[in-house]
Amino acid sequence: MDCIFCKIVSKDIPAEILYENESVLVFKDLNPVAPIHFLAITKEHISCTNDINSKNKHLIGEIFEVISLICKKKDIPTEYRIVNNCGAKAGQTVPHIHFHILGGRELSWPPG
Ligand code: 5GP
Ligand code: ZN
Repeated sequence: MDCIFCKIVSKDIPAEILYENESVLVFKDLNPVAPIHFLAITKEHISCTNDINSKNKHLIGEIFEVISLICKKKDIPTEYRIVNNCGAKAGQTVPHIHFHILGGRELSWPPG
């Protein structure tokens, strides 16, 4: 499958990896929009939140546990925003489920 994030999982494309376990990978975003901007993904290819089901839903819980672990580390502020874009009109450009973790500056609301 021609998926950029699957290629990052398989290490065919390099990325600055912050955390990895059996099912979750966390790496820095290539084009950060905040001083802290990393992405948490499932290693398994799930296209977007519409494809979460009873078989893979535990992976989403694992992602959030990992985010919590990472953000409790000293170098990452405990105030941050988690963003998931589902579908092109919502801003999804990579069709492999991912959660943006943004921090290190004031974040306005509502988003654009
Ligand atoms: P989306 O727009 O789908 O919500 O977010 C995709 C994100 O992936 C963007 O913030 C973009 O900068 C990031 N991205 C796209 N290609 C790569 C890549 O090859 N490496 C890394 N580290 N990030 C990428
Ligand atoms: Zn993928």
